[in-house]
Amino acid sequence: MMGCKTFFFTGLIAFWGCSPNLYKEANRSYKQQAKAFANELKKQPADIDSAMMASQWVGTTNFGMRKPNFVIIHHTAQAACDTTLKTFTLPRTQVSAHYVICKDGTINHMLNDYLRAWHAGSGKWGNVTDINSVSIGIELDNNGFEPFTEIQINSLLQVLKKLKKDNNIPTANFIGHADIAPKRKVDPNKYFPWQQLAANGFGYWHDTVNVKLPENFDAMQALRIIGYDTKDSIAAIRAFKLHFVQQDTEAKLTDADKKIIYDLYRKY
Ligand SMILES: [Zn+2]
Repeated sequence: MMGCKTFFFTGLIAFWGCSPNLYKEANRSYKQQAKAFANELKKQPADIDSAMMASQWVGTTNFGMRKPNFVIIHHTAQAACDTTLKTFTLPRTQVSAHYVICKDGTINHMLNDYLRAWHAGSGKWGNVTDINSVSIGIELDNNGFEPFTEIQINSLLQVLKKLKKDNNIPTANFIGHADIAPKRKVDPNKYFPWQQLAANGFGYWHDTVNVKLPENFDAMQALRIIGYDTKDSIAAIRAFKLHFVQQDTEAKLTDADKKIIYDLYRKY
């Protein structure tokens, strides 16, 4: 349970004591910052460059909020969920995510989905270079070397279902941090159930039973078409294998790997 601690007395009696004020300071800061952005949105004319160049301001009556078009999945690489919540509520860390899902399935929502979290860092997928501006970041409590719990994945699937429906996010756009930053990142780890996600409509999986590799198939070009930044081909191959092969992340493409790439690239 969030914000709760176990207190022990005389070694015999234990009880749960809730501290609802644990994140009071952070919540106040959130509110202040959100208010500042709301004031920014209300400005007529908006003092951004394109408006400054205009001769006059005419407010249209027809508009909405921008929506995320990608979901990026991470593992926290930390020992406990509370540690991550603390990390994301300290200004000096400069990192955050929209959701943090604990091993016991608890879903922590930390940022309005319309706002930009700082989870992706520098990265690239296709021609998208500002991933934070177009994505929702989801962190799964996991030290980086262990399987994910079933209850945690069930919570994740619930969140993904709502995000996909609310924002009309394409099936292809549910990907991992390592996919968009292959040189820097290795999350989520090899135990992440990408195949199970794909079976639920979040990301693609492969079926190579009847796949015949065409002659002169260019696997690196296909990886680039899928979305990978292939400037560093070794890093790109490793990231692809972490996601779609999983049991082997050697930076070498076997014929079986190439068949997987061929099958996937036709879906993207
Ligand atoms: Zn990450």
